[in-house]
Amino acid sequence: MNNLVAFLRERRNLPKVRVKASAVLEAFGETAPEALVGRRLPVPAEGGTVEYRISEYLIQQDAFVVMRVSDVARPDLVAFLNARYDEEEAQADVAAQHQKPDWSCPATCVVDLGEDLLSIDDREVAYHIVLHDPARVLAEVEANRRTLDLHFIQSGTGGTWDTDPPAICNECGTPHPCETVRLRGLPHADHEDYRQEWKP
Ligand SMILES: [Zn+2]
Repeated sequence: MNNLVAFLRERRNLPKVRVKASAVLEAFGETAPEALVGRRLPVPAEGGTVEYRISEYLIQQDAFVVMRVSDVARPDLVAFLNARYDEEEAQADVAAQHQKPDWSCPATCVVDLGEDLLSIDDREVAYHIVLHDPARVLAEVEANRRTLDLHFIQSGTGGTWDTDPPAICNECGTPHPCETVRLRGLPHADHEDYRQEWKP
Protein backbone atom coordinates (compact mmCIF):
# COMPACT_ATOMS: atom_id res chain seq x y z
CA MET A 1 0.00 0.00 0.00
CA ASN A 2 2.72 2.45 1.00
CA ASN A 3 4.66 1.80 -2.19
CA LEU A 4 1.63 2.50 -4.36
CA VAL A 5 0.64 5.63 -2.42
CA ALA A 6 4.19 6.98 -2.60
CA PHE A 7 4.28 6.30 -6.34
CA LEU A 8 0.94 8.01 -6.98
CA ARG A 9 1.90 10.98 -4.84
CA GLU A 10 4.99 11.42 -6.95
CA ARG A 11 2.98 11.22 -10.18
CA ARG A 12 -0.05 13.19 -9.08
CA ASN A 13 0.31 15.71 -11.92
CA LEU A 14 -0.16 12.97 -14.48
CA PRO A 15 -3.82 12.26 -15.35
CA LYS A 16 -3.09 8.58 -16.05
CA VAL A 17 -0.42 6.33 -14.59
CA ARG A 18 0.48 2.70 -15.27
CA VAL A 19 1.34 0.75 -12.16
CA LYS A 20 2.47 -2.79 -11.49
CA ALA A 21 -0.37 -5.19 -10.81
CA SER A 22 1.40 -6.48 -7.70
CA ALA A 23 1.33 -3.01 -6.08
CA VAL A 24 -2.42 -2.63 -6.66
CA LEU A 25 -3.20 -6.19 -5.55
CA GLU A 26 -1.25 -5.52 -2.37
CA ALA A 27 -3.15 -2.27 -1.77
CA PHE A 28 -6.56 -3.94 -2.08
CA GLY A 29 -5.64 -7.34 -0.73
CA GLU A 30 -5.55 -10.43 -2.92
CA THR A 31 -8.40 -10.06 -5.40
CA ALA A 32 -8.93 -11.04 -9.00
CA PRO A 33 -7.46 -8.20 -11.11
CA GLU A 34 -10.58 -7.93 -13.28
CA ALA A 35 -12.64 -7.29 -10.14
CA LEU A 36 -10.55 -4.25 -9.26
CA VAL A 37 -11.36 -2.27 -12.42
CA GLY A 38 -13.59 0.63 -11.39
CA ARG A 39 -12.40 0.60 -7.77
CA ARG A 40 -11.29 3.89 -6.28
CA LEU A 41 -8.16 4.55 -4.30
CA PRO A 42 -7.91 7.70 -2.16
CA VAL A 43 -4.32 8.83 -1.76
CA PRO A 44 -3.56 11.10 1.21
CA ALA A 45 -1.78 14.25 0.09
CA GLU A 46 -0.66 17.45 1.73
CA GLY A 47 -3.84 19.42 2.51
CA GLY A 48 -6.33 16.87 1.18
CA THR A 49 -6.83 13.71 -0.81
CA VAL A 50 -6.18 12.82 -4.42
CA GLU A 51 -8.50 10.12 -5.70
CA TYR A 52 -7.55 7.62 -8.37
CA ARG A 53 -9.75 5.19 -10.23
CA ILE A 54 -8.54 1.92 -11.71
CA SER A 55 -9.64 2.18 -15.30
CA GLU A 56 -8.05 -0.78 -17.01
CA TYR A 57 -6.18 -4.02 -16.40
CA LEU A 58 -3.54 -4.84 -18.98
CA ILE A 59 -3.21 -8.60 -19.01
CA GLN A 60 -0.06 -8.93 -21.09
CA GLN A 61 1.87 -6.24 -19.20
CA ASP A 62 0.51 -7.40 -15.84
CA ALA A 63 -0.27 -3.78 -14.98
CA PHE A 64 -3.15 -1.51 -14.09
CA VAL A 65 -3.94 1.89 -15.55
CA VAL A 66 -4.86 4.23 -12.74
CA MET A 67 -6.57 7.54 -13.54
CA ARG A 68 -6.60 10.59 -11.34
CA VAL A 69 -10.25 11.53 -10.89
CA SER A 70 -10.23 14.29 -8.29
CA ASP A 71 -8.17 16.48 -6.07
CA VAL A 72 -10.45 16.66 -3.05
CA ALA A 73 -9.96 19.90 -1.15
CA ARG A 74 -7.04 20.73 -3.39
CA PRO A 75 -8.03 23.46 -5.82
CA ASP A 76 -5.40 24.13 -8.46
CA LEU A 77 -3.44 27.37 -8.63
CA VAL A 78 -5.76 28.94 -11.22
CA ALA A 79 -8.82 28.31 -9.02
CA PHE A 80 -6.90 29.66 -6.03
CA LEU A 81 -5.96 32.85 -7.93
CA ASN A 82 -9.49 33.38 -9.26
CA ALA A 83 -10.80 33.15 -5.69
CA ARG A 84 -8.32 35.86 -4.60
CA TYR A 85 -9.30 38.06 -7.59
CA ASP A 86 -12.99 37.61 -6.73
CA GLU A 87 -12.30 38.81 -3.18
CA GLU A 88 -10.23 41.81 -4.29
CA GLU A 89 -12.80 42.78 -6.92
CA ALA A 90 -15.72 42.53 -4.47
CA GLN A 91 -13.90 44.62 -1.87
CA ALA A 92 -12.91 47.29 -4.41
CA ASP A 93 -16.46 47.41 -5.79
CA VAL A 94 -17.89 48.06 -2.33
CA ALA A 95 -15.29 50.74 -1.60
CA ALA A 96 -16.03 52.41 -4.94
CA GLN A 97 -19.76 52.44 -4.12
CA HIS A 98 -19.18 53.97 -0.67
CA GLN A 99 -16.79 56.58 -2.01
CA LYS A 100 -15.55 56.94 -5.61
CA PRO A 101 -13.24 54.72 -7.66
CA ASP A 102 -10.51 57.30 -8.31
CA TRP A 103 -8.88 58.81 -5.24
CA SER A 104 -6.54 61.80 -5.26
CA CYS A 105 -4.35 63.99 -3.10
CA PRO A 106 -5.81 67.53 -3.40
CA ALA A 107 -3.37 68.75 -0.74
CA THR A 108 -0.36 67.37 1.13
CA CYS A 109 -1.40 64.65 3.60
CA VAL A 110 -5.01 64.70 2.42
CA VAL A 111 -6.74 61.93 0.45
CA ASP A 112 -9.96 62.75 -1.38
CA LEU A 113 -12.03 59.53 -1.29
CA GLY A 114 -15.10 61.09 -2.88
CA GLU A 115 -17.50 61.35 0.04
CA ASP A 116 -14.81 61.84 2.67
CA LEU A 117 -11.49 63.59 2.98
CA LEU A 118 -8.90 61.49 4.76
CA SER A 119 -6.25 63.41 6.68
CA ILE A 120 -2.98 61.61 7.37
CA ASP A 121 0.13 62.98 9.01
CA ASP A 122 2.42 61.06 6.66
CA ARG A 123 2.22 62.35 3.07
CA GLU A 124 4.02 59.29 1.65
CA VAL A 125 1.33 57.05 3.13
CA ALA A 126 -1.31 59.33 1.65
CA TYR A 127 0.26 58.88 -1.82
CA HIS A 128 0.41 55.14 -1.26
CA ILE A 129 -3.32 54.99 -0.47
CA VAL A 130 -4.13 56.96 -3.62
CA LEU A 131 -2.00 54.57 -5.69
CA HIS A 132 -4.14 51.68 -4.47
CA ASP A 133 -7.58 53.17 -5.00
CA PRO A 134 -10.47 50.92 -6.18
CA ALA A 135 -9.92 51.86 -9.83
CA ARG A 136 -6.31 50.65 -9.67
CA VAL A 137 -7.25 47.41 -7.87
CA LEU A 138 -10.00 46.65 -10.41
CA ALA A 139 -7.60 47.30 -13.31
CA GLU A 140 -5.02 44.95 -11.78
CA VAL A 141 -7.62 42.24 -11.22
CA GLU A 142 -8.70 42.56 -14.86
CA ALA A 143 -5.08 42.35 -16.09
CA ASN A 144 -4.43 39.32 -13.88
CA ARG A 145 -7.55 37.55 -15.14
CA ARG A 146 -6.52 38.18 -18.76
CA THR A 147 -3.08 36.77 -17.97
CA LEU A 148 -4.69 33.57 -16.68
CA ASP A 149 -6.90 33.44 -19.78
CA LEU A 150 -3.78 33.53 -21.99
CA HIS A 151 -2.04 30.79 -20.02
CA PHE A 152 -4.85 28.27 -20.10
CA ILE A 153 -4.30 24.53 -19.97
CA GLN A 154 -3.87 22.72 -23.21
CA SER A 155 -4.49 19.05 -22.53
CA GLY A 156 -1.70 16.57 -22.97
CA THR A 157 -1.82 14.40 -26.06
CA GLY A 158 -3.80 11.81 -24.14
CA GLY A 159 -2.99 8.17 -24.00
CA THR A 160 -2.67 5.33 -21.62
CA TRP A 161 0.91 5.15 -20.45
CA ASP A 162 2.84 6.75 -17.65
CA THR A 163 4.93 8.51 -20.26
CA ASP A 164 1.90 10.62 -21.32
CA PRO A 165 2.73 14.31 -21.12
CA PRO A 166 1.05 16.26 -18.32
CA ALA A 167 -1.32 19.13 -19.01
CA ILE A 168 0.66 21.99 -20.53
CA CYS A 169 0.24 25.76 -20.82
CA ASN A 170 -1.08 26.82 -24.21
CA GLU A 171 1.08 29.97 -24.22
CA CYS A 172 4.38 28.67 -22.81
CA GLY A 173 4.29 25.02 -23.85
CA THR A 174 5.56 24.06 -20.39
CA PRO A 175 3.78 21.93 -17.77
CA HIS A 176 0.86 23.61 -16.05
CA PRO A 177 0.98 25.70 -13.94
CA CYS A 178 3.62 27.52 -15.99
CA GLU A 179 6.14 30.00 -14.60
CA THR A 180 3.91 33.00 -15.45
CA VAL A 181 0.95 31.60 -13.50
CA ARG A 182 3.22 30.60 -10.60
CA LEU A 183 4.59 34.14 -10.45
CA ARG A 184 1.05 35.50 -10.20
CA GLY A 185 0.67 33.33 -7.10
CA LEU A 186 3.64 34.85 -5.24
CA PRO A 187 1.81 37.93 -3.87
CA HIS A 188 -0.58 35.50 -2.16
CA ALA A 189 2.06 33.14 -0.74
CA ASP A 190 1.07 34.03 2.84
CA HIS A 191 -2.54 32.89 2.26
CA GLU A 192 -3.49 29.77 4.23
CA ASP A 193 -4.61 27.95 1.06
CA TYR A 194 -1.37 28.66 -0.83
CA ARG A 195 0.68 25.50 -1.42
CA GLN A 196 4.49 25.54 -1.34
CA GLU A 197 4.62 23.35 -4.46
CA TRP A 198 3.23 26.34 -6.46
CA LYS A 199 6.35 28.43 -5.83
CA PRO A 200 8.14 29.36 -9.07
ZN1 LIG B 1 2.09 29.93 -19.51
